[in-house]
Amino acid sequence: AHKFPAEQAMTTVEKIDIQVGRTGTLAPVARLAPVTVGGVVVENVTLHNEDYIKGLDSNGLPIRDGIDVRIGDTVVIQRAGDVIPQIVSVVIDKRPADAVPYEFPHTCPICGSPATREINEKTGKEDSRRRCTGELICAAQAVEGLRHFVSRGAMDIEGLGAENIDLFFNAGLIKTAADIFTLKDRRPDVTRALAGRREEQARLREAASGKTRKNVRSAEERNYEG
Ligand SMILES: [Zn+2]
Repeated sequence: AHKFPAEQAMTTVEKIDIQVGRTGTLAPVARLAPVTVGGVVVENVTLHNEDYIKGLDSNGLPIRDGIDVRIGDTVVIQRAGDVIPQIVSVVIDKRPADAVPYEFPHTCPICGSPATREINEKTGKEDSRRRCTGELICAAQAVEGLRHFVSRGAMDIEGLGAENIDLFFNAGLIKTAADIFTLKDRRPDVTRALAGRREEQARLREAASGKTRKNVRSAEERNYEG
Protein backbone atom coordinates (compact mmCIF):
# COMPACT_ATOMS: atom_id res chain seq x y z
CA ALA A 1 0.00 0.00 0.00
CA HIS A 2 1.02 3.59 -0.64
CA LYS A 3 2.66 5.10 2.43
CA PHE A 4 1.82 8.73 3.13
CA PRO A 5 4.11 11.16 4.91
CA ALA A 6 2.95 11.88 8.49
CA GLU A 7 1.39 15.19 7.49
CA GLN A 8 -0.76 13.66 4.75
CA ALA A 9 -3.73 11.31 4.86
CA MET A 10 -6.43 9.99 2.56
CA THR A 11 -10.15 10.42 3.25
CA THR A 12 -13.46 11.04 1.45
CA VAL A 13 -15.57 14.14 0.86
CA GLU A 14 -18.96 13.45 2.45
CA LYS A 15 -20.60 16.74 1.58
CA ILE A 16 -19.94 20.34 0.66
CA ASP A 17 -21.50 23.09 2.79
CA ILE A 18 -21.70 26.77 1.98
CA GLN A 19 -21.06 29.19 4.84
CA VAL A 20 -22.03 32.85 4.52
CA GLY A 21 -19.67 35.34 6.12
CA ARG A 22 -20.17 38.80 7.51
CA THR A 23 -19.45 40.42 4.17
CA GLY A 24 -21.77 37.99 2.38
CA THR A 25 -19.02 35.82 0.91
CA LEU A 26 -20.18 32.29 0.12
CA ALA A 27 -17.40 30.08 1.53
CA PRO A 28 -17.50 26.38 0.56
CA VAL A 29 -16.36 23.84 3.17
CA ALA A 30 -15.76 20.14 2.48
CA ARG A 31 -17.07 17.86 5.25
CA LEU A 32 -14.73 14.88 5.40
CA ALA A 33 -14.85 11.42 6.88
CA PRO A 34 -12.76 12.21 10.03
CA VAL A 35 -9.10 11.42 9.54
CA THR A 36 -6.00 11.91 11.69
CA VAL A 37 -3.31 14.04 10.07
CA GLY A 38 -0.18 14.95 12.01
CA GLY A 39 -1.84 13.94 15.30
CA VAL A 40 -4.98 16.05 14.75
CA VAL A 41 -8.42 14.85 13.63
CA VAL A 42 -9.47 16.74 10.50
CA GLU A 43 -13.18 16.78 9.57
CA ASN A 44 -13.47 20.01 7.57
CA VAL A 45 -11.33 21.64 4.96
CA THR A 46 -11.88 24.92 3.16
CA LEU A 47 -12.56 24.79 -0.56
CA HIS A 48 -11.96 28.57 -0.88
CA ASN A 49 -14.22 29.34 -3.87
CA GLU A 50 -15.91 27.80 -6.90
CA ASP A 51 -12.87 28.05 -9.18
CA TYR A 52 -10.81 26.17 -6.58
CA ILE A 53 -13.45 23.40 -6.54
CA LYS A 54 -13.23 23.25 -10.35
CA GLY A 55 -9.43 22.85 -10.13
CA LEU A 56 -8.43 26.39 -11.15
CA ASP A 57 -6.39 28.99 -9.28
CA SER A 58 -7.14 32.73 -9.22
CA ASN A 59 -5.39 33.16 -12.58
CA GLY A 60 -7.42 30.41 -14.23
CA LEU A 61 -4.44 28.03 -14.18
CA PRO A 62 -4.88 24.38 -13.20
CA ILE A 63 -4.34 23.20 -9.62
CA ARG A 64 -4.45 19.50 -8.56
CA ASP A 65 -3.74 18.71 -12.25
CA GLY A 66 -6.98 20.53 -13.05
CA ILE A 67 -9.11 17.87 -11.34
CA ASP A 68 -12.31 19.15 -9.71
CA VAL A 69 -13.52 18.13 -6.24
CA ARG A 70 -16.78 16.18 -6.10
CA ILE A 71 -18.91 14.84 -3.26
CA GLY A 72 -17.85 11.21 -2.81
CA ASP A 73 -14.29 11.82 -3.99
CA THR A 74 -11.30 10.32 -2.21
CA VAL A 75 -8.82 13.09 -1.49
CA VAL A 76 -5.35 13.49 0.00
CA ILE A 77 -5.31 15.98 2.88
CA GLN A 78 -2.21 17.78 4.02
CA ARG A 79 -1.69 19.50 7.32
CA ALA A 80 1.83 20.86 7.63
CA GLY A 81 2.81 22.88 10.70
CA ASP A 82 0.36 25.65 11.50
CA VAL A 83 -0.97 25.84 7.94
CA ILE A 84 -4.69 25.01 7.79
CA PRO A 85 -5.45 21.60 6.24
CA GLN A 86 -5.67 21.55 2.44
CA ILE A 87 -6.69 19.10 -0.24
CA VAL A 88 -3.51 18.39 -2.19
CA SER A 89 -4.93 15.93 -4.69
CA VAL A 90 -7.99 13.99 -5.77
CA VAL A 91 -7.56 10.23 -6.21
CA ILE A 92 -9.31 10.04 -9.58
CA ASP A 93 -9.14 6.20 -9.72
CA LYS A 94 -11.37 6.09 -6.64
CA ARG A 95 -14.00 8.54 -7.96
CA PRO A 96 -17.48 6.92 -7.71
CA ALA A 97 -19.14 6.35 -11.09
CA ASP A 98 -22.13 8.47 -10.05
CA ALA A 99 -20.12 11.46 -8.76
CA VAL A 100 -21.20 14.67 -10.51
CA PRO A 101 -19.45 18.05 -10.82
CA TYR A 102 -20.34 20.27 -7.86
CA GLU A 103 -22.83 22.99 -8.76
CA PHE A 104 -21.92 26.10 -6.83
CA PRO A 105 -25.13 27.87 -5.69
CA HIS A 106 -26.04 31.13 -7.40
CA THR A 107 -28.34 32.10 -4.52
CA CYS A 108 -27.53 32.63 -0.84
CA PRO A 109 -28.34 29.51 1.25
CA ILE A 110 -29.37 31.78 4.17
CA CYS A 111 -31.64 34.42 2.60
CA GLY A 112 -32.18 33.24 -0.99
CA SER A 113 -30.91 36.47 -2.56
CA PRO A 114 -28.87 36.24 -5.77
CA ALA A 115 -25.18 35.56 -5.09
CA THR A 116 -22.94 37.18 -7.70
CA ARG A 117 -19.32 37.51 -8.67
CA GLU A 118 -18.38 41.14 -8.99
CA ILE A 119 -16.01 42.42 -11.65
CA ASN A 120 -12.85 43.91 -10.17
CA GLU A 121 -12.67 47.44 -11.58
CA LYS A 122 -8.86 47.49 -11.62
CA THR A 123 -8.21 44.18 -13.30
CA GLY A 124 -11.49 43.75 -15.16
CA LYS A 125 -11.51 40.19 -13.83
CA GLU A 126 -14.33 38.39 -12.10
CA ASP A 127 -13.92 38.12 -8.32
CA SER A 128 -13.14 34.52 -7.33
CA ARG A 129 -15.66 34.79 -4.48
CA ARG A 130 -19.41 34.78 -4.95
CA ARG A 131 -21.25 37.12 -2.62
CA CYS A 132 -24.82 37.35 -1.34
CA THR A 133 -26.46 40.59 -2.49
CA GLY A 134 -29.03 40.50 0.33
CA GLU A 135 -27.04 42.71 2.74
CA LEU A 136 -29.26 43.54 5.72
CA ILE A 137 -32.11 41.20 4.74
CA CYS A 138 -29.52 38.39 5.01
CA ALA A 139 -29.51 37.06 8.58
CA ALA A 140 -25.93 35.80 8.18
CA GLN A 141 -24.67 39.25 7.26
CA ALA A 142 -26.85 41.06 9.78
CA VAL A 143 -25.84 38.94 12.79
CA GLU A 144 -22.19 38.82 11.79
CA GLY A 145 -22.19 42.57 11.18
CA LEU A 146 -23.76 43.19 14.58
CA ARG A 147 -21.26 40.87 16.30
CA HIS A 148 -18.43 42.70 14.60
CA PHE A 149 -19.89 46.06 15.60
CA VAL A 150 -20.09 45.01 19.25
CA SER A 151 -16.73 43.17 19.40
CA ARG A 152 -14.90 46.13 17.90
CA GLY A 153 -15.64 47.95 21.13
CA ALA A 154 -17.44 50.55 19.05
CA MET A 155 -19.96 50.66 21.81
CA ASP A 156 -20.16 50.20 25.52
CA ILE A 157 -23.56 49.02 26.60
CA GLU A 158 -23.72 47.10 29.84
CA GLY A 159 -24.40 43.40 29.41
CA LEU A 160 -24.30 43.48 25.64
CA GLY A 161 -21.58 41.07 24.62
CA ALA A 162 -21.30 39.36 21.26
CA GLU A 163 -22.96 36.32 22.89
CA ASN A 164 -26.17 38.31 23.41
CA ILE A 165 -26.37 39.45 19.80
CA ASP A 166 -27.71 36.10 18.56
CA LEU A 167 -30.27 36.06 21.36
CA PHE A 168 -31.54 39.60 20.72
CA PHE A 169 -31.50 39.11 16.94
CA ASN A 170 -33.50 35.87 17.17
CA ALA A 171 -35.93 37.53 19.59
CA GLY A 172 -36.50 40.25 17.00
CA LEU A 173 -35.10 42.96 19.29
CA ILE A 174 -32.31 44.08 16.98
CA LYS A 175 -32.12 44.04 13.22
CA THR A 176 -29.54 46.74 12.60
CA ALA A 177 -26.80 48.41 14.61
CA ALA A 178 -29.12 51.37 15.22
CA ASP A 179 -31.48 49.09 17.18
CA ILE A 180 -28.68 48.40 19.69
CA PHE A 181 -28.88 51.98 20.91
CA THR A 182 -32.60 51.77 21.64
CA LEU A 183 -32.32 48.52 23.64
CA LYS A 184 -32.13 50.49 26.88
CA ASP A 185 -35.59 51.89 26.16
CA ARG A 186 -36.95 48.35 25.84
CA ARG A 187 -35.90 46.92 29.19
CA PRO A 188 -38.91 44.62 29.67
CA ASP A 189 -38.31 42.90 26.30
CA VAL A 190 -34.58 42.57 26.99
CA THR A 191 -35.26 41.17 30.48
CA ARG A 192 -37.74 38.68 29.03
CA ALA A 193 -35.22 37.48 26.41
CA LEU A 194 -32.46 37.08 29.00
CA ALA A 195 -34.79 35.25 31.42
CA GLY A 196 -35.89 32.94 28.61
CA ARG A 197 -32.31 31.98 27.94
CA ARG A 198 -31.58 31.41 31.65
CA GLU A 199 -34.53 29.03 31.82
CA GLU A 200 -33.35 27.23 28.70
CA GLN A 201 -29.83 26.86 30.14
CA ALA A 202 -31.21 25.54 33.45
CA ARG A 203 -33.34 23.04 31.56
CA LEU A 204 -30.31 21.85 29.56
CA ARG A 205 -28.20 21.54 32.72
CA GLU A 206 -30.91 19.48 34.35
CA ALA A 207 -31.22 17.23 31.32
CA ALA A 208 -27.42 16.78 31.27
CA SER A 209 -27.17 15.93 35.00
CA GLY A 210 -30.12 13.54 34.67
CA LYS A 211 -28.18 11.76 31.98
CA THR A 212 -25.10 11.58 34.23
CA ARG A 213 -27.14 10.12 37.09
CA LYS A 214 -28.57 7.55 34.74
CA ASN A 215 -25.09 6.60 33.52
CA VAL A 216 -23.85 6.21 37.11
CA ARG A 217 -26.85 4.07 37.99
CA SER A 218 -26.36 1.80 35.06
CA ALA A 219 -22.70 1.39 36.02
CA GLU A 220 -23.79 0.38 39.55
CA GLU A 221 -26.35 -1.96 38.11
CA ARG A 222 -23.65 -3.56 36.03
CA ASN A 223 -21.55 -3.98 39.19
CA TYR A 224 -24.43 -5.78 40.94
CA GLU A 225 -24.87 -7.99 37.96
CA GLY A 226 -21.20 -8.77 38.51
ZN1 LIG B 1 -27.85 36.06 2.12
